[in-house]
Amino acid sequence: MPTVLVVEDDHQLRDVVARVLREEGLTVMTAADGHAALAAATPETNAIILDIGLPDADGRDVCLALRTRGVGAPVLFLTARDAVHERLAGFAAGGDDYLTKPFHIPELLARLRVLLRRNESSPPSTRSGLVLDPAQHALTHEGASAPLSPTEFRLLAALLGHPGEVVRRRELLRAGWPDGAIVHENTLDQYVARVRRKLVQVDAPDRVETVRGVGYRVVSS
Ligand code: CA
Repeated sequence: MPTVLVVEDDHQLRDVVARVLREEGLTVMTAADGHAALAAATPETNAIILDIGLPDADGRDVCLALRTRGVGAPVLFLTARDAVHERLAGFAAGGDDYLTKPFHIPELLARLRVLLRRNESSPPSTRSGLVLDPAQHALTHEGASAPLSPTEFRLLAALLGHPGEVVRRRELLRAGWPDGAIVHENTLDQYVARVRRKLVQVDAPDRVETVRGVGYRVVSS
């Protein structure tokens, strides 16, 4: 059963969310502040719902600290504020999605399900010896390492999850960006170009081929 950590200092909201998730059959842990969140999360945690406005810390800093401790679980940030720069800062901190309070429980569940599926599908390594490290958001190959942004990480995970198969542009957009994000067509190509450079940087035997008008595929030489 997937384990979800709910970090929220508003005890009423925390209790409601925990109860609903348990009713969904999930294993739920709760924490009321950043300190407790760091103590409760483990590399086995499958997803984290993380309030940004915690009494002892900014949730985004908690997320960064979790990443350095080997906790690679996808993070859904909760915030009472809806400023674009905070969304961007949240993603830069390694968050995977964002929900603004007040929210409807079905929306929380829908987003959480997407994150849990994404977590299941990210491969730890490939046949050619590439390792995607979700905790460090890094790509490694035979001792060489390159850092990946959260979007680069998710795009590469989506491509490496289907070696030799074409992954459609639409699927890559869905994998790389949060639901509802408006992404320019060229942006995907720019990100794939970055991913290609990272593969070269670690001297990977894999490369990303363009399948014109359809998508991309990873092939190994
Ligand atoms: Ca709060």
